[in-house]
Amino acid sequence: MILTINTGSSTIKYQLFSSDVEQVLARGIVSRIGEEGSYIVHAARGREVRKEIPLRSHHEAFELAIQHLLHPQYGAIHNINEIEAVGHRAVHGADAFMASTLITDEVLDKMSELAPLAPLHNPPNLVGMREGRSLLRGVPHVAVFDTAFHQTMPPRAYMYALPYRFYEEHRIRRYGFHGTSCRYVSHRAAALLQRPLKELNSVVCHLGNGVTITAVKGGESVDTSIGFATFGGVMMGTRAGDVDPGLVFHFNRELGIGIEEYERIVYYESGLLGISGVGNDMRVITAAAEAGHERARLAMDMFAYMIKKYVGAYAAAMGGINCLIFTAGIGENSAPVRRMVCEGLEFLGIRVDPASNEDAVGGREMVISPPEAGCTVAVIPTDEEKMIAIDTRRIANLQPV
Ligand code: ADP
Repeated sequence: MILTINTGSSTIKYQLFSSDVEQVLARGIVSRIGEEGSYIVHAARGREVRKEIPLRSHHEAFELAIQHLLHPQYGAIHNINEIEAVGHRAVHGADAFMASTLITDEVLDKMSELAPLAPLHNPPNLVGMREGRSLLRGVPHVAVFDTAFHQTMPPRAYMYALPYRFYEEHRIRRYGFHGTSCRYVSHRAAALLQRPLKELNSVVCHLGNGVTITAVKGGESVDTSIGFATFGGVMMGTRAGDVDPGLVFHFNRELGIGIEEYERIVYYESGLLGISGVGNDMRVITAAAEAGHERARLAMDMFAYMIKKYVGAYAAAMGGINCLIFTAGIGENSAPVRRMVCEGLEFLGIRVDPASNEDAVGGREMVISPPEAGCTVAVIPTDEEKMIAIDTRRIANLQPV
């Protein structure tokens, strides 16, 4: 069996997969680690349990997760040795990691070096890897980096037009995120369309709380909308996305808003929330827009327009587009957003069949364009954990059962 682990600063999410990665045998989340009211929610064998337990550290949280996996009533294994390999989600591999990799002491040292590039994510990822290796010894541990898929971007796409020394000395460049999701849905789309991945010029719209648009040519990322931090590109739930970089000076000099407050504003108060004023959840915004709320309508309109512009730009970057993929919470469930993005893109061969679009909700892989359309539009539910488990199986050299 393969265990996947996603460690955040106060959470650990885990899933236990069968060795062939076809079934999820258990899943859980430990939350509020090191805070008041820490708890675990664990599900296996058709039962879900929720327990509040004080947890001072990630070490205690891991031990608790393992106890639950081994539990006689709601566990999924009898013996810890049934876990054959562990896959860890890793956010930032910078330009040091082009692909998923077996975790060694050297890999952990390299990741520590990269921590300043992802101060919120890499340090907890590292804690997860260290604790995981100490509690589950003698099995391979694999790191799957969110940035790795985007390492195929050419320099013209990943460079920023800043003085070159910032790239050379400080590694300032576009890295991209959501790569694991993007890779998974690109492969699934090729399988669904029964076409070789090499033939697909896809634009992947990962529309969740975070939003990433990626150009995937023949299975390789050639450009992506989020760059260095997780702020840029299309507006998101509470993040502004691309705004004029000069605004930071105006906020500072004319409005007296310092750098930290500016950061909070563009990260937590902007995007769909900042424009609509009704919330950051697309379900709430859509309901308000349908009820005639002007700013909710504007928020949806801006959101779809920004995505549409990226689709056009990436069609140009790839010399054409023959597959448009929608994924993540909004992409998988919001027929209105998909319709609004595709409207007006007929000149690229993009068309949506209204009935199929309405039908595509709740986690089904579906083609929503009519058969004669020049570009296939598909809704593909993402599954980052599954991709991590598949990589882990491959790198750990486990034989399918
Ligand atoms: P994350 O990026 O945190 O993994 P998800 O991919 O789960 O997030 O996406 C979460 C977002 O998906 C929610 O904020 C919500 O706006 C949106 N969402 C979920 N279900 C629906 C739905 N039925 N219709 C529209 N939007 C939805």
